Amino acid sequence: MCICVNCHWVNRCKTYHSVERQHGVKHLNPNPDFQGNNPSIHILLKEQNNADIEVEWDVRECSSFLEEKGKWLKLRPGEKLPS
Ligand code: SF4
Repeated sequence: MCICVNCHWVNRCKTYHSVERQHGVKHLNPNPDFQGNNPSIHILLKEQNNADIEVEWDVRECSSFLEEKGKWLKLRPGEKLPS
């Protein structure tokens, strides 16, 4: 799970914007203006049944992480949390 979904900065963060782009999902904010310090991105390659490769990007550590539980869900109420 990407820690960004519980981070205060998620809707302003340039790194999370990149993660959204890699996942092909719509952006929380088209023009993020915050750059977190030292985000560490975990990349997982998953082979699908049809032999396609799915790539998952998750931020696992970040010096700028500021916990705000449920921040992503507050911005997208009722939507499925990105995995
Ligand atoms: S944890 Fe870091 S990369 Fe993720 S939203 Fe917060 S500041 Fe951005």
